[in-house]
Amino acid sequence: MKKKIIVQKFGGSSVANAERVKHVAKRVVATKREGNDVVVVVSALGDTTDELLQLADQITSSPCERELDMLMATGEQISVALLAMAIHELGEQAISLTGAQIGVLTEGTHTKAKLVDISPKRIQTLLNQGNIVIAAGFQGVNINQDITTLGRGGSDLSAVALAKVLKADVCEIFTDVEGVYTADPRIVSTARKMEAIKYDEMLELASVGAQVMQARSIFVAKRYGIPIHVRSSFSKKEGTMISDSANAMESMMVSGVALRKDEAKITVRDVPDKPGMAAKLFQELAVADVNVDMIVQNTSREGATDLSFTVENGDLPKTLRVTRATSKKIGAGEVTTDEGVAKISIVGIGMQSQSGVAAKVFKVMAKEKINIEMISTSEIKISCVIRRETAEKAVRILHQAFGLSKAPTKKSTAKKKTVKRK
Ligand code: ADP
Ligand code: ASP
Ligand code: MG
Repeated sequence: MKKKIIVQKFGGSSVANAERVKHVAKRVVATKREGNDVVVVVSALGDTTDELLQLADQITSSPCERELDMLMATGEQISVALLAMAIHELGEQAISLTGAQIGVLTEGTHTKAKLVDISPKRIQTLLNQGNIVIAAGFQGVNINQDITTLGRGGSDLSAVALAKVLKADVCEIFTDVEGVYTADPRIVSTARKMEAIKYDEMLELASVGAQVMQARSIFVAKRYGIPIHVRSSFSKKEGTMISDSANAMESMMVSGVALRKDEAKITVRDVPDKPGMAAKLFQELAVADVNVDMIVQNTSREGATDLSFTVENGDLPKTLRVTRATSKKIGAGEVTTDEGVAKISIVGIGMQSQSGVAAKVFKVMAKEKINIEMISTSEIKISCVIRRETAEKAVRILHQAFGLSKAPTKKSTAKKKTVKRK
């Protein structure tokens, strides 16, 4: 019988210290000893990436993005080497490789580079020689051999892409929760683990803030039909299957609630009310590779209007630079920022065929006196920008209002932790 190829990805919390690295090694070795070929993708130990970014911040508030990539990629180089050593201790052959060594070719901007290709040749040879191959997640190289990274949470993308090029049988994402829940279980203690979820819903949930999977990785998984199993590093329980299978659907109108706290709102005052103004501003932001999220333009008065939009906090310095310069060029007024906002969203394929979902969201928020500052909707999503201090409460009340909570259990086991920036 043909050997199975299994890709297993372990996130930062799964390899937070030496003990956990040894634990992961045992799990990987067990999979190998069941007769499989195993390729492991690891993230940096614990909060290493955040700590490296904080170090850079102590040096400069506007670091060069090439150097940021050089810095951040060191995190994954540490974890792959340690995991290889831990596997050697268990008597198996293992070899660690950087993104460059496995030919992860990328293009585009540093810190959010796009994956072009991975060459499976070296990995195949090493697997055939009996090795467990341990690949550094999150990193690649561009055509100039400069180190690049794939955006925060990018090890998920490395794992899915490796599963694709190796034609793996399974792509398992091991993390610190037991799967994908109806909301972040650290915020909503009654959140329910889903047995299965469709790519489209996961993609929406991930892109509006459900940190458990990186959105870009789901995009690639959907495109190539790669099933993903999200599960816990600390238990043997089945987690959540992400796939396209029809019976994967849970018959819920709303499948989940998500929160993004790392949003900032920018307002440009007195934008001349004539064609081409918004085009000019957002074109300049696109050139600077800023992902603009929500946009709201007020009704014009006396030939001018105010324009507000949101971006990721991390992009704020760049966004301000570009927006201020463009505002001047087009004759608009003052540019202000508001970093005290968050975005909450509800997602569900079932929403397509239902009316009144948005009205229900607004009613629930109004009852709790939570003011909505911006709204955007799509067929399967409703998002609202609100004050950051009310955001967790909003997640809980929406989760409750849409009937997503499980029956209360004795005690929630989810521990609090700081949610890192994506
Ligand atoms: P890793 O280090 O394994 O990549 P992450 O911290 O990136 O882990 O993602 C796991 C975290 O995602 C969980 O600890 C949880 O707090 C958060 N999370 C947010 N939304 C969800 C959700 N809907 N389901 C599960 N976890 C979620
Ligand atoms: N270490 C990187 C990050 O913290 C990549 C990852 O964890 O997936 O974003
Ligand atoms: Mg992650």
